Amino acid sequence: MNRVSKFLLPILLISVPLVSGCGQPASHSHEVSQRTTDTFSGDYPIKVLCTTGIVAEVLQRVGGDHVEVTALMSYDVDPHLYKPLFSDIEKLDQADVVFYSGLHLEGRMADLFVQYARKKPTYAVTEGIIARDDKRLREPPEFEGMHDPHVWHDVSLWSACVHDVAEMLGKLDSPHAADYDKNAHTYMDELAELHDYCKTEVAKIPEQSRVLVTAHDAFGYFGQAYGIEVFGLKGISSEAEKDLEHQEEVQKMIIARKIPAVFVESTIAHRTVEALIEPCRAAGWDLQNGGELYADALGAADSNASTYTGMVKHNVDTIVGGLTVAPE
Ligand SMILES: [Zn+2]
Repeated sequence: MNRVSKFLLPILLISVPLVSGCGQPASHSHEVSQRTTDTFSGDYPIKVLCTTGIVAEVLQRVGGDHVEVTALMSYDVDPHLYKPLFSDIEKLDQADVVFYSGLHLEGRMADLFVQYARKKPTYAVTEGIIARDDKRLREPPEFEGMHDPHVWHDVSLWSACVHDVAEMLGKLDSPHAADYDKNAHTYMDELAELHDYCKTEVAKIPEQSRVLVTAHDAFGYFGQAYGIEVFGLKGISSEAEKDLEHQEEVQKMIIARKIPAVFVESTIAHRTVEALIEPCRAAGWDLQNGGELYADALGAADSNASTYTGMVKHNVDTIVGGLTVAPE
């Protein structure tokens, strides 16, 4: 039995630029998938399958009692590298609706989303900000015309995605559209406070130390929103190789500008960043490991970063703590 009526009316053609295995744009090949207007007509709660925990939290908060949310990726998973398991296909098949982050974050699942979009409602939570050509979207030159997928690090931009999710759910399940909208606004009010917290806290870092060095280029939106310069040792995707020449430039920059600390990431081997520490110390600059940041995934259930708000606060507090050491 189909729980969702499908293929009522193709209304939108989405072009999906695919990303090749190494995280680099794949010659801009475009695959076109058909988007249908979908109406949920099954039994509640609506079975919602999400990719990351960050997306799952949005669906849980906005969907409330009307949805049952499952996340494919656990807290320690790197979404750039995640390959769907056989059991994931089963979960995808059983879901009424699929939500993913998009902008090629889940690079190895792109083909799968194109396939599922033909079968059931399948949404990227970032499709609204793309459709509106949101000015906050980053298109780093090294990503050749594609967007940086790490939009949740600008809390106000992620909040826009939360609002879009309420609209997507409201269209899918119009009898509860008002609930979704109300839930979204409650969540967005919390996010507005969180956004202000980030701004206030980052401003406490001495201006010359407002430089964030991490394992991969995940914090571009964070830097843009809260006023801190960002250097990743790897590219936008954690899959990109670390470039030793780039590492040396970053080392020189750290020493020249007396940056007190660099930061490791929860889903990437710590040695990626720790490799900077010894050469800097050898050159006479006592560089510290400022601590672990959650770039692409929430923390474990028993950590202080198991929720989106907890994750963002943990990151901000760690960054501010590491960089406010008085320079010598
Ligand atoms: Zn990432």
